[in-house]
Amino acid sequence: MDKSYLEKWDKEYFWHPFTQMKIYREEENVIVERGEGVYVYDIHGNRYLDGVSSLWCNVHGHNHPKLNQALIDQVNRIAHFTTLGASNVPAVVFAKNLIDIAPPKLRKVFYSEDGAEAMEIAIKIAYHYWHNKGEFQRNKFVTLSEAYHGDTIGSVSVGGINIFHEKYRPLLFDVYKMPSPYLEAVKKAGREKALEYDTTKLLIEEVEEFIFKNHQEIAGFVLEGGVQGAAGILPFPKGYLKEIRRICDEYNILMIVDEVATGFGRSGYMFACEKEGIEPDIMALGKGITGGYLPLAATLVTDEIFNEFLGEFGEAKHFYHGHTYTGNPLACSVAIANLEVFEEEQTLKKLQPKIKLLEERLKEFWDLKHVGDVRQYGFMAGIELVRDRKSMEPFPYGERTGFKVAGEMLKRGIWVRPLGDVMVIMPPLVITEDQLNYFLDSLKESIKAVTEV
Ligand SMILES: *Cc1c(COP(=O)(O)O)cnc(C)c1O
Repeated sequence: MDKSYLEKWDKEYFWHPFTQMKIYREEENVIVERGEGVYVYDIHGNRYLDGVSSLWCNVHGHNHPKLNQALIDQVNRIAHFTTLGASNVPAVVFAKNLIDIAPPKLRKVFYSEDGAEAMEIAIKIAYHYWHNKGEFQRNKFVTLSEAYHGDTIGSVSVGGINIFHEKYRPLLFDVYKMPSPYLEAVKKAGREKALEYDTTKLLIEEVEEFIFKNHQEIAGFVLEGGVQGAAGILPFPKGYLKEIRRICDEYNILMIVDEVATGFGRSGYMFACEKEGIEPDIMALGKGITGGYLPLAATLVTDEIFNEFLGEFGEAKHFYHGHTYTGNPLACSVAIANLEVFEEEQTLKKLQPKIKLLEERLKEFWDLKHVGDVRQYGFMAGIELVRDRKSMEPFPYGERTGFKVAGEMLKRGIWVRPLGDVMVIMPPLVITEDQLNYFLDSLKESIKAVTEV
């Protein structure tokens, strides 16, 4: 059957996210019809390896029988019922399951649908918490340059990626911004030593001095869990999160960790906080929470925070926030199954050799002339392409070098989405070693084909 009408309608009616529609409408695009494991199939029957886990969220592969069954079972019971002053079975069970595996200090779950909302909620809770305690002057957030926490106005306010965020500056609330740990580490210690513990000490001095001077007006310190993902996979130097935890403890500041990208195995642990040996006061989760099936997100908080919202009705201390689909039963049922599959398939255990393989093979990319940096955090990696490695001069923005490499990858049956000129390696956790090797071989060839002409 001729399906070209779909391509026509796609270009005519559908405004795509993070997409220059002028270019999109001039090009051929992948319209996916079905998936199987790490592969997706488009309307013409072409198969592509899902190289970025459908934007960093797929965990156990597409069309997974157990996740499918969880949804089928639940949809035959009920698809949705509100959780405003009521509840539903999967939302209750998943809250319990999540608290069982989260850092022990985190005891309560507030649901939403996307990572940006989970962060928006984290910020509102932190701000409101200090109000309920009568500390009204604590109304500022410390954030990091190059941070990404999502695209709603509050999440953009705590974000730090200029090309996404700067346009909206007049709409945003003011925050304090500290340097991006990785970029500052490279500046201060050089790329080779950037991630070492001693480098952290160099960075922390400035942070601590700032907090020492301003802590009385700071509600929370907002940062990603171990790596600044959207900025181009920029890992934190060793011990950075631990040091921030120490400072937050010392000055009584809430530590808000965004694990939307790193949560659910991507770091090599269930949560990056585990890997880093810290417990935040507030943690945001999204992306992999349903194994990449449905939009669900969660903001986890301590009892200490939760308890400040308790009071008589007339005190109006409660958290005035909620969405129509908060705690959706379908999303929660597949989230429950997601955790079960982690257990049954030993996903994290099987992931470890693949993280090692990735680490070994990433070294090969230094042989390519236009590779300026190679970075890895758990099972995510970024390869930065530059015109000149020595000076780190980038390719001109308009040349879309990263997208061209993605185009070469498509010819080799792999779908990837770069972050500017950073090639992202983020396949589903279930990818096999053979598939991963093919991915990396193809990436090397594709980078060469585009940059070494
Ligand atoms: C993707 C991402 C978000 C935003 O999540 P959405 O579901 O896209 O709103 C927030 N924080 C981090 C670290 C992310 O990677």
